[in-house]
Amino acid sequence: MIIMDSTATKEEIANVVKEIKKFGLKADVSRGEFRTVIGLIGDERKADFSRFATLPGVKEAFMVETPYKLISRDLVIIAGPCTVESKSQLFRIAEKVKKAGAHILRGGVFKPRSSVHSFQGLGANGRNEAEEALRWLHEAGQKFGMPVVTEVRGEAQVDLVAGYADIIQIGARNMYNQDLLASVARTGKPILFKRHFGAGIDEFLSFAEYMAAEGNKDIILCERGILPVGKGKNYTRYTFDLSAIPAIQKETYLPIIADPSHATGRQDLVFNMSCAAVAAGACGLMIEAHYNPSEALIDGMQMVTPEELKEIISACRKIHKLVAQKHRAKVLTG
Ligand code: PEP
Ligand code: MN
Repeated sequence: MIIMDSTATKEEIANVVKEIKKFGLKADVSRGEFRTVIGLIGDERKADFSRFATLPGVKEAFMVETPYKLISRDLVIIAGPCTVESKSQLFRIAEKVKKAGAHILRGGVFKPRSSVHSFQGLGANGRNEAEEALRWLHEAGQKFGMPVVTEVRGEAQVDLVAGYADIIQIGARNMYNQDLLASVARTGKPILFKRHFGAGIDEFLSFAEYMAAEGNKDIILCERGILPVGKGKNYTRYTFDLSAIPAIQKETYLPIIADPSHATGRQDLVFNMSCAAVAAGACGLMIEAHYNPSEALIDGMQMVTPEELKEIISACRKIHKLVAQKHRAKVLTG
């Protein structure tokens, strides 16, 4: 992908297109209000990105490793902080999760919280602050070559978030909010749709249908734990409903990923439960990560470090390879 300077001229853009063609690739030019982005169509590995970066008018040139992350059969890793706290916090985490092997960057700007007295995300400080945090997220995604996902908590935020996010998250608490579902679906953006902690599988899929009915079928389902049963101490934040993953896979063609961070609420369980979710058939994981979990304003107790994330990704890739092969064989043989 090549990002042009905001001052790039038509001639400079045409020159970049010409250079791309020299590598036997096609160029897809999108002219935005503020700048032009040129996508490369074909095998990007054939191209010399360091050369593109030196051409006049080019701001950044980088390879998008897998241009079809969301539909590829590879395990997709979404990682990042629970919430965007500052530009430096976000960029530092983005760089580290990318190096650890993440494909998509997450970070909340509008946070659903149980208490009005706790930090609600930078979005709560006003529209300008929300927009600034969303811009950081977008910039971090561009800088490190990752699409970004962030949550909308209410209908009033949909247009603003859609202007910056590549994927819009609908959190567990909003799974039943059909007006929000419809308005997010109408943006045409892919949706990360989390199961409510009290919802049955039927309900979860029925509410996903609200978005499909708006013509948006780019829905990624996410299992994030259901309410624990019994009295006494809860050892986990929620109960990870792992059997829901293969059960849902049999009901729908929509991809299903898992969130071991919110499901367990415990950093020390994230490795095992990531492996378990992938073994259960999840095609992706969403994991909260921070360079210093104890500094995080929200959910520090469930965040893994970038080093742990790397270990999780490496183990889960191996498991995914095994499970995906078996799954494909079953699909082919019926
Ligand atoms: C989150 O992913 O940041 C989040 C708040 O999760 P959930 O909606 O599953 O509680
Ligand atoms: Mn969180």
